[in-house]
Amino acid sequence: MTGYDKPLPKLNSDTRPFWEGCKKHELRFQRCLGCGHVIWPSSIICPKCHARDTEWIVASGHGIVYTYATYHVAYHPGFLSDIPYVVAIVELDEGPHLLTNIINCRVDDVKCGMDVTVVWEDVTPEISLPKFSPD
Ligand SMILES: [Zn+2]
Repeated sequence: MTGYDKPLPKLNSDTRPFWEGCKKHELRFQRCLGCGHVIWPSSIICPKCHARDTEWIVASGHGIVYTYATYHVAYHPGFLSDIPYVVAIVELDEGPHLLTNIINCRVDDVKCGMDVTVVWEDVTPEISLPKFSPD
């Protein structure tokens, strides 16, 4: 056991560069070399123009709360001590919509459109989770 009792991401060849970036506290995304679209989730093909050539970029880590929900029930025992907590979709400045948590504020203070910046939770020696905090 790692001591961390919540679900962890399972890395594969598509997701490994993203999670390796997180370990270095960098939000990495693929950008299509054909049309410039920032691809999320990572893929072997651009969903906009179907090009296969991409490069990895490091995002700014800034975005806005696109939408959110406050959880008052723990659907996994690992989250019991966290309730109430906010699960949100953050729209990053570069375009991707990331499913994450808003932390470092009261759940009642979270609003759609609020500016947020990534903060890192180092949960295991291999995994750091990107979460977001109000600016
Ligand atoms: Zn493209």
